[in-house]
Amino acid sequence: MRPDIPTLLHDIFGFPAFRGVQEQVVGRIMAGQPTLAIMPTGAGKSLCYQLPAVALDGCCVVISPLIALMHDQLRAAQAVGIRAASLTSVDADWRETQDRLRNGDLDLLYVAPERASGEGFRNLLRATKVALFAIDEAHCVSEWGHDFRPDYRLLRPLLDEFPQVPRLALTATADHHTRDDILVQLGIPREGLIIAGFDRPNIRYAVHPRDGLPRQLSALIAASEGPGIVYAPTRAATEKLAETLTRTGRPTRAYHAGLDPAVRAASQAAFIASEDMVMVATIAFGMGIDKPDVRFVAHAALPKSIEGYYQESGRAGRDGEPAQAHLFWGADDFARARQRIAELDPARQQGERTRITALGGLVETGTCRRAILLRHFGEHPPATCGNCDNCLNPPASIDATETARKFLSA
Ligand code: ADP
Ligand code: MG
Repeated sequence: MRPDIPTLLHDIFGFPAFRGVQEQVVGRIMAGQPTLAIMPTGAGKSLCYQLPAVALDGCCVVISPLIALMHDQLRAAQAVGIRAASLTSVDADWRETQDRLRNGDLDLLYVAPERASGEGFRNLLRATKVALFAIDEAHCVSEWGHDFRPDYRLLRPLLDEFPQVPRLALTATADHHTRDDILVQLGIPREGLIIAGFDRPNIRYAVHPRDGLPRQLSALIAASEGPGIVYAPTRAATEKLAETLTRTGRPTRAYHAGLDPAVRAASQAAFIASEDMVMVATIAFGMGIDKPDVRFVAHAALPKSIEGYYQESGRAGRDGEPAQAHLFWGADDFARARQRIAELDPARQQGERTRITALGGLVETGTCRRAILLRHFGEHPPATCGNCDNCLNPPASIDATETARKFLSA
């Protein structure tokens, strides 16, 4: 059996979590759905096809406009052990690459659009199991775009010859003329359009010191309509909390990887269909669950990283309607993190310490939470967002004590 997506993400690419819309895009591709992903530069577009390329049976054909770009990506992919090759005028190993393609021995193949649209290449693909077409820098297909490449227009017949193969177009160019044109030119339905940017303006962020968690969560659930997810740190904690929270009268279930697969599948299906269920889960719950109307996500304890927090809280409000993210934390979370880190391979300790310190900054700040999250992802947000606890209720004095750091170094 192939490892699951989160395992591949971690073991091959070395990332603790998806960022932004990556999870959604990868989920769509794994489900065979045509997609146009608009993601800012640096958002991690390559992963959106490289991960499915590894997970899916067959080869992912990547159309990319520049040989230099292709070779950069090729080296990076090969460096993490992905079976990748390119067919360009400067590659000497054409015969070998063609054999590997036909033998099912490649995960990724990079080609330029003029090559991809040619009859020779199409013949080669007829003898190949193709898993995915990824069209990088897809704005090149549009005359509206800043970089029109007529060769991109020739791709459509190739894509259409393999109608069962999903197509993923990627670009950082977001203006709506170009966007609409890409959809039309590449035959992607409008519902396949996914636009990133790290900000989730409809999510209201709030952070609370833990102080009688069951009571705090019950109050939150009583005040929140619609489905919600409560992330708890351990399997035992999910079951215990779920039992307590049932008393709120809301349908409540526990979910973790230790449950029987049939039970998990049933709970997941019930949650997706529900308009008011509360799922108390470990982070095993989430990937591939595309439920747009989740109204709140609560963390019962400190997550492992800001990336993880962003990804998990980001499951709230995918429909764009108001949603809430609540993080409950206590000093003991930091103590536990310190313990966990001490048991790690020394090479990994510094990185983990940095992650926890970053989380300390998020929970301890008296300033805008959103600004801290977005800056973490390289954006330059305004100083206040108007939709987090600190912006809505500025703390009287900014308590910038460094509890996190103190607990870590104690
Ligand atoms: P883009 O093509 O969107 O500009 P890239 O695919 O080149 O972005 O990725 C940008 C950087 O982000 C790379 O260094 C990549 O390793 C990193 N990256 C991608 N996905 C993640 C993730 N989930 N977590 C952390 N880093 C990531
Ligand atoms: Mg790129």
